[in-house]
Amino acid sequence: MQEYFTEAIVLDKKESGDFDSLIFLYTKDLGKVVARARSSRKITSKLAGHLEPLNFVRVRLVEKKGFHIVDVLAPKQIKKIKASIENFSKSLVLLQFINEMVYEFQPDLYFWQEIRKILISDFEEKYTYRYLLKILGFDPKFASCNNCSGKTVNYFYKSEQIFFCQKCASKIPKDKVILIE
Ligand SMILES: [Zn+2]
Repeated sequence: MQEYFTEAIVLDKKESGDFDSLIFLYTKDLGKVVARARSSRKITSKLAGHLEPLNFVRVRLVEKKGFHIVDVLAPKQIKKIKASIENFSKSLVLLQFINEMVYEFQPDLYFWQEIRKILISDFEEKYTYRYLLKILGFDPKFASCNNCSGKTVNYFYKSEQIFFCQKCASKIPKDKVILIE
């Protein structure tokens, strides 16, 4: 049984069984981790409330037939973001993007630091998916439209990890693609 203690941001939360939750984390030390939080939906659970999307936490994880969250410390909500509906919805799109784009157990300290910076300190400043895609190894500069081979790409199709131009992307549902500004 291996134990880990790491900083993390909660990306998403899904119900599992009667009381448990599956928590999608992007951690500093392990990269993305999907961990079970036992009884987290019971009102008396001390984990409840700490494991909401957008919370920065320090978690103790135990690996035993998958990952389990056994403790959460110092939850730090990003109050600035939650105060603004526009920033709040933008940041949820960003969390979803991270969740879809990164694989489990591939830590990337630079990516972690950039996400932290965007969400905690520099959120008002302009950041672009062009930049985040570049960090993840999908530099739009060298990309072409997957459909028409056009050299100007405007959208990134997350599940397939391919680029499209404005025209070719118009037939794809908006929640499947990220606009590259
Ligand atoms: Zn095209």
